[in-house]
Amino acid sequence: MEKPKVKNAARAAGRRAKPRRKPKSLYTPAEVAEMFRRFSIQRPEPKGELEHVNAFTLLVAVVLSAQATDAGVNRATRGLFAVADTPARMLALGEEAVGAHIRTIGLWRNKAKNVIALSEALIRDHGGDVPGDRDLLTRLPGVGRKTANVVLNMAFGQPTMAVDTHILRIGNRIGLAPGKTPDEVERRLLEVIPHEYMLHAHHWLILHGRYVCKARRPECERCVIADLCKAAVKTSSIPAPLVPPEPAAPAEV
Ligand code: SF4
Repeated sequence: MEKPKVKNAARAAGRRAKPRRKPKSLYTPAEVAEMFRRFSIQRPEPKGELEHVNAFTLLVAVVLSAQATDAGVNRATRGLFAVADTPARMLALGEEAVGAHIRTIGLWRNKAKNVIALSEALIRDHGGDVPGDRDLLTRLPGVGRKTANVVLNMAFGQPTMAVDTHILRIGNRIGLAPGKTPDEVERRLLEVIPHEYMLHAHHWLILHGRYVCKARRPECERCVIADLCKAAVKTSSIPAPLVPPEPAAPAEV
């Protein structure tokens, strides 16, 4: 009798087939370079939308922005930073008064505690300065890897990739950097994005996710990489003109 055919060599050898590793990206290096070349023309100087006046207020704003919108954080920090723009002034203000300024932001009690604790730690361990080092930053109360990456990028000009909800979604939706966790997506993006674009890549992807490749319904007809995009579901494959940039539409968070 003829033997049933085995499907692959691993089964033939009686071993379990290893799970296939996800590709780090669905795109060739040339396609990724073209994508970021277009983003760089569309927004030559992309900026974060959290208001701040120095590295310390940037750090505080990013800590406050967890599970809150940038607009909501800005409304709260305008008054706060007018009276406390250094760790010493924040400490002098005290937890209760910080809480009163940020009461409109989610998790404000815990965040007020962290802002005071991180001000104390900056004075005690860093002479009141914000350190430009990821390990030192992530030892501060309330500061995780994403917050540290934002501060390193915006305050210290380091080519870091802070993966927020928009970048996590885009990385997976279009197959640019598939991954289950922010760390996995961050690692893959760092592998595939050409170095020359890394400094601004984080902002380009956030702004693209916030205004065009939105969570509920991507606006592919307004997308400058629609022809390159390999998302499973798209509403257009015709790239939008590179200029002028899109008008400031209401942000989807
Ligand atoms: S074509 Fe659509 S799905 Fe692809 S990146 Fe653009 S907006 Fe997102």
